[in-house]
Amino acid sequence: MRAIIIYMYLIDSHCHIHDRSCYNHALSRQQIGRKLLKGYPDFPHEPDDFIPEKIIVRAHDAGIKKMICIGTSHEDSLNARDFAEKYHADGVFWSYGIHPDEASELQSPFGKRLATTGASAQASPVTTGRSEARLPKGTLNSLAPALVAIGEVGLDYHNDANRPAQQKLFERMLQLALDYDLPLIFHVREAFDDFFAMLDNFPSARGVVHSFSDNRENLIKSLDHGFYIGVNGLSTFAPELPIADIPLDRILLETDAPFLTPAPFRGTINEPARIREICAHVSKLKGESEADIARITTKNAEQLFHI
Ligand SMILES: [Zn+2]
Repeated sequence: MRAIIIYMYLIDSHCHIHDRSCYNHALSRQQIGRKLLKGYPDFPHEPDDFIPEKIIVRAHDAGIKKMICIGTSHEDSLNARDFAEKYHADGVFWSYGIHPDEASELQSPFGKRLATTGASAQASPVTTGRSEARLPKGTLNSLAPALVAIGEVGLDYHNDANRPAQQKLFERMLQLALDYDLPLIFHVREAFDDFFAMLDNFPSARGVVHSFSDNRENLIKSLDHGFYIGVNGLSTFAPELPIADIPLDRILLETDAPFLTPAPFRGTINEPARIREICAHVSKLKGESEADIARITTKNAEQLFHI
């Protein structure tokens, strides 16, 4: 057991613990090794283990004092808002975002006019106009103390993406962040060129590139934009990622729970308590103590999100 330094605490800057359907999906897919269960007979693996109260208690016991629930659609964001309202005293915050995967079939105050046909999906024009759509102010203001960011938003060209629809949506999200003076949580996958091109119209955008999974060149460009970089369980099983090249004062720790469980717990369901494993891994990669990683990444998250 590692020594826990009592005055040190950690932050999970990106999780989905408000989203029961994510947990049900993860529960249906978990494959807990017999060996692992033998070593940890009390290891959480039953549906009952993943009720919010227990997840939050395990997080607090592991020294994770604050966690941000990330919205991925209009409805999911409002769920995150309600969850953060209920558990705000336990250190739960939320973000409003519509994930790029939602761009083609939006059912939200933004969506009605966004969907475009897939015919020009490969043309990939980078839009330049300002958005005219606005969320009713009350939607986001009603829980102002716990709303900390706009995200996750961005571009994801991995599957058959409707690129123009994603770009329109992303532009609206960038404008929303500007309107509310909030940082952004970016989801960018195989789309960094268009991502950087679109940011030219939003030079004051600030935020974190969540779950960074690209090359060194795009890492440096992200850092040059002043962004933080979100490091999660991927770093423990994807050694090719240039995590060691990220300056410590730009790293945010995140789980993306219930997904992306860090080693050595692959095959189990992820949760904010696993930030400790990610912290330990970053400590090895950076050659710094876990206490320093905890202290600095916590400070980074508090500075970016004002929490
Ligand atoms: Zn996520």
